[in-house]
Amino acid sequence: MKLDLKYKNKEHIFDIREQGGVPYLAYPLLEETGIVTHGFSTRLGGVSTGNCATMNISTTRGDAPEAVEENRRRIAAAIGVKPEDMTFTHQTHTTNVAVVEEKDRGTRFMETDGMVTNVPGICLVTFYADCVPLYFVDPVHRAIGLTHSGWRGTVGRIGRITVEKMAENYGTDPKDVIAAIGPSICQDCYEVSEDVICRFREYFPEECWPDLFYNKGDGKYQLDLWKANEHVLAEAGILKEHIATTNVCTHCNPDILFSHRATGERRGNLSAFLALK
Ligand SMILES: [Zn+2]
Repeated sequence: MKLDLKYKNKEHIFDIREQGGVPYLAYPLLEETGIVTHGFSTRLGGVSTGNCATMNISTTRGDAPEAVEENRRRIAAAIGVKPEDMTFTHQTHTTNVAVVEEKDRGTRFMETDGMVTNVPGICLVTFYADCVPLYFVDPVHRAIGLTHSGWRGTVGRIGRITVEKMAENYGTDPKDVIAAIGPSICQDCYEVSEDVICRFREYFPEECWPDLFYNKGDGKYQLDLWKANEHVLAEAGILKEHIATTNVCTHCNPDILFSHRATGERRGNLSAFLALK
């Protein structure tokens, strides 16, 4: 399937794959670890109608339950996981990261924006429409993490908290971690007001401000959540060459990806998937 995606640069960050009419994005950098199955869904290849058309597996968007169920079956088959192994977050812009154990397989973690596990087969699933997906793979200790980082989570360093959870629970050394920053809103599309920038000024060192945002006047700024999360991951001890940063923006591709800034609440959710083989 050919996806007419608009890219921010010419780097090869993603592969576009398709199975059974369901396209998804995958990172060669994560794939090369050899220990994970992963992907990122698009709007295409599902059966939902209306605002959620067509691939939505989130139960919080007003979508028909039977459509969600069929979509889960389709995307699971495409990526190569089992629907009953999908383990979800119910994200509320916290910095809470859950440690997922065998008993949690197939459940949902409330008030949680990140998950880590070392249990093979459990497929971590998180939801997006402009916010930033963060993938973590520790090939040495065979552990993974998947985290939702909107601007609040980014300011709260949820990426670093995820790596710390992996270190605490699985002995992960950040230098071994392979990470990916997933499809989300780009700086050109992400206008924010002074109050958001105040928080970034408070929590990020002054020398990196020019990298993260610029002032457009009238109290409006353009904020770069990709760069901000690269900074958070570097701070966590992850090596620069171990981070794949998206060059696909959700808001630049509203026909292929759900974008909150493009359609407001009238939308489904994109999903990130990460499982240990
Ligand atoms: Zn954009």
